[in-house]
Amino acid sequence: MDQLYDVIIIGSGPAGLTAAIYAQRARLKTLIIEKEYASGGQIINTYEVDNYPGLQGINGYDMGVKFKEHADQLEAEFKTVEVLDIDTSSDVKVVKTTEGDIHTKSIIIATGARYRKLGIPGEEEFGGRGVSYCATCDGAFFRDRTTVVVGGGDVAVEDAIFLARMSKKVYLIHRRDELRAQKILQEKLFETENIECIWNSTVTEIHGDQQVTDIIVKSTVDGSTRKLDVDGVFIAVGVIPNSEVIPDTIKKTESKYIIANEDCKTNIPGVFVAGDVRTKALRQIITAASDGANAVTSAQEYLMFS
Ligand code: NAP
Repeated sequence: MDQLYDVIIIGSGPAGLTAAIYAQRARLKTLIIEKEYASGGQIINTYEVDNYPGLQGINGYDMGVKFKEHADQLEAEFKTVEVLDIDTSSDVKVVKTTEGDIHTKSIIIATGARYRKLGIPGEEEFGGRGVSYCATCDGAFFRDRTTVVVGGGDVAVEDAIFLARMSKKVYLIHRRDELRAQKILQEKLFETENIECIWNSTVTEIHGDQQVTDIIVKSTVDGSTRKLDVDGVFIAVGVIPNSEVIPDTIKKTESKYIIANEDCKTNIPGVFVAGDVRTKALRQIITAASDGANAVTSAQEYLMFS
């Protein structure tokens, strides 16, 4: 065995980076494994974060950079590699990666979540040609054009408001007649003149030639359909936990979230879970960061008594 870490943190979003900061300050021998070179997780695609105390209005990318810089200042060790499996059958746990096995006394899983797809005709075909999951990344391509956002959560509403600043017209299509998004975002949405909400409706097909030209919108009330001419389709229908490589010995819900309370302890001693991949009521940057701190506290306690 080359090295034995006290803790390996898998993932470098707000949960993983906060865990890195706490683990470095606790002087634990720590390794953070990230799949992509850019740290920050989902927030790097967030245009504006308006509810993190003290950093009002910060751009998500800048926030990710700040979190990473903080961990770097504490000399945290990062490795960009893909995790394939983890073996937690003995006290020395093994993280199996595309570059070989790494050994550790404890693990914090902070793998986050990813975009859910609609699974409708045209969605894959027009990916990057009018279909997008990131308004912040692709919105600028639709200046003075007509765009549609699908979904009714925080992301969908934030995306619609963001797109309205550059698109000629934005449709927000939601399958119910009530939004899930925070009320403050809803107020902003309803007062934006060039946004029109289409309630009780789903998108069933995306059409185009070189680029998207139109979509089929279906009423969830009477099943009627109509064609809507649009240039861009932004899909914001929630997220799926990134827990596929986590073995089933670590308990998950039916929706594949890893089960743990606020102490971030999974059913396996020495294995902790932090951030969006954990079962929790509120998935926000601040709750992910809070998990990172709690997970390290639990890991420290485990290391002290194991
Ligand atoms: P979300 O809150 O799960 O909302 C997903 C939306 O998509 C819901 O309105 C849902 O409809 C709809 N939907 C799901 N599947 C669908 C389908 N197949 N067809 C049509 N519509 C579908 O997801 P999110 O907006 O991506 O947000 C993810 C998490 O990040 C949330 O916890 C959110 O609060 C958090 N977030 C936080 C911030 C922040 O801290 N500032 C910013 C953005 C997001 P129903 O309502 O009918 O279920």
